[in-house]
Amino acid sequence: MTGAAIRTTCAYCGVGCGIRAEVTGPRAVTIRGDADHPANFGRLCSKGTHLGETVGLDGRLLTPMLGDTAVEWDAALDAVADRLRDTIEQHGPDAVAFYVSGQLLTEDYYVANKLMKGFVGSANIDTNSRLCMASAVAAHNRAFAEDVVPVSYADLEAADLIVLLGSNTAWCHPVIWQRIEAARAARGTRIVVIDPRRTETAEQADLHIPVSPDGDVALFGALLADMRARGLTEGDAPDGFWDSLPRDAGIDPALFATLADWVAATPRMVTVFSMGANQSVSGTDKGNAILNLHIAMGRINAPGMGPFSMTGQPNAMGGREVGGLANMLACHLGFSDNELRDVAGYWNTANICSGPGKKAVDMFRAIDEGRIKFLWVMATNPAVSMPDAGFVRAAMAKCPTVVVSEVIADTDTTRLAHIRLPAHGWGEKDGTVTNSERRISRQRALFPAPGQARADWWIMSQVAARMGWAEAFAYTHVAEIWREYAAMTALSVRHGKALDLTPQAAVTNAEYEEMTPFQWGGAYPMDGRAMKLVPVTARARAPLPEGYDFRLNTGRYRDQWHTMTRTGLAPTLALHRREPLLEVHPDDAAAHDLSDGGLARVATLYGESIFRVTITDAQRRGDLFVPMHWTDVMGNGGRANLLPGQHVDPVSGQPGFKNTPARVSPI
Ligand code: SF4
Repeated sequence: MTGAAIRTTCAYCGVGCGIRAEVTGPRAVTIRGDADHPANFGRLCSKGTHLGETVGLDGRLLTPMLGDTAVEWDAALDAVADRLRDTIEQHGPDAVAFYVSGQLLTEDYYVANKLMKGFVGSANIDTNSRLCMASAVAAHNRAFAEDVVPVSYADLEAADLIVLLGSNTAWCHPVIWQRIEAARAARGTRIVVIDPRRTETAEQADLHIPVSPDGDVALFGALLADMRARGLTEGDAPDGFWDSLPRDAGIDPALFATLADWVAATPRMVTVFSMGANQSVSGTDKGNAILNLHIAMGRINAPGMGPFSMTGQPNAMGGREVGGLANMLACHLGFSDNELRDVAGYWNTANICSGPGKKAVDMFRAIDEGRIKFLWVMATNPAVSMPDAGFVRAAMAKCPTVVVSEVIADTDTTRLAHIRLPAHGWGEKDGTVTNSERRISRQRALFPAPGQARADWWIMSQVAARMGWAEAFAYTHVAEIWREYAAMTALSVRHGKALDLTPQAAVTNAEYEEMTPFQWGGAYPMDGRAMKLVPVTARARAPLPEGYDFRLNTGRYRDQWHTMTRTGLAPTLALHRREPLLEVHPDDAAAHDLSDGGLARVATLYGESIFRVTITDAQRRGDLFVPMHWTDVMGNGGRANLLPGQHVDPVSGQPGFKNTPARVSPI
């Protein structure tokens, strides 16, 4: 496989940048941005640019493992099927759970969802996307009756005002930031950043609003009330909606006045929201507060305007489309009798689940309580990435069966596995992903799969066959799964949804291979569809418990990704930040005897960890920040997700990572 460039898609974030990869050796590749890909038009960020440094085989899981024993595939698959069958027979289907990932390709996700919800007969399949944007999904469902992002990247270039809420875009979606910067240079777009921290993005904004943690619902409610008072709203609202809006934005009145004047004067406005909005116990209300403003002002479904949820992972959107969340079926369908009957009919199964399954936090609680006895983790590292990670780790250690499909041999999660299954990694995977603007692109294999590594869909289909479901999982080529999923979107259409891929149901394998990026639903999929204003609640700030005088926020570094299982392989990326730093305001540092460069212990009600201190006035007084990437496998502390608790948004089930009571002391 050397010679002509292969068009594929970046392994990392939800921007979904197109790549031209030229294979230069057995495990060597030169990476360039794909100038023809509509997500990035040739641009790449540091992570995408250095993907070539991550394709070596050091640390790869290359053989199926039963405990510490390398085995052939047949033995491993038999063991998974035997344990799965025994669990279902002895404890019922709800004793089984799959915890999957936005790193899976759409076809893998489709098969996982079909296997669990259609044949095991439980909806206990949830995904690490629950930690990322489940609140945005819930907000879309409440306002649009479907999980639809009604904006495209091109709208950022047609906007005159871009409001970034809870999004350090310059670091976390860098190519989107590059597009915004280019648009700003071309048309003078104003940029507002609403974020407790003065991030890299906020530094470059025209206006930074250092909102208090979880103060966004009040801010957007007050903004909408102000627009109402100016006569800038239109359409119907539910009874009592206008009276329910907060009047106090909770921020400096001068900043609010500037923001309100800019919003009032600028019809072409896009509001981008990301983890800072979603990872909150009021994340769904935050999403709806944003959607409410756009719907009430008619700033949606037209060029340069709309609410834009940016997803974190490369295929969080594809997972949402095929039903990778425990509270939805495939193809944007829910659990009504009609929808369940249609899905069961399409899959020709008598084992269809009966209702929603356990969302991520509840799933690991059920494991802890012994109600879930078989866990299959695919392409993710929950022992590090879940909140209250110490609890999650202890729960998994008690689970009678933990199967992990992985690329990396030694992660915090594989250390807890009874069975490890070697999966394809980026550069070997073959299938599709959907980015934040609903654009579907191909990820293509660059290299032959190493060792015994296999595609996730193949692994699951082999287990399904051993369970007696061979006919429903008789896939021999990934394109067969794509066609089956595409045809299934006829059910979405039947139930009035916008997700329609039925023209793809007839593609040949050759056409699938040649697929070029396309956006489902067109530029404005909500145009002509009903949109609802949803009353939201600006919760009063919970007081800090005694002994805890800080609110802890967690987030990302520019050049690292998730738990660093891939980016940790790229030496160049380590140069940006060599270790996890605790960011503290100078006054707080002085009050707690913290010195710049010294070590400090951060403790919460749930756990503690040690970080090196950096003192910065980019941090609000009373707030702390630590990055979320470092793991036990790397040693030496700095493990952020030991610190947040299991508190979730009541609608979406998404955990609140960004507002945890904490205390800090020097070491
Ligand atoms: Fe990859 Fe995201 Fe960077 Fe694009 S912006 S190159 S998708 S990490």
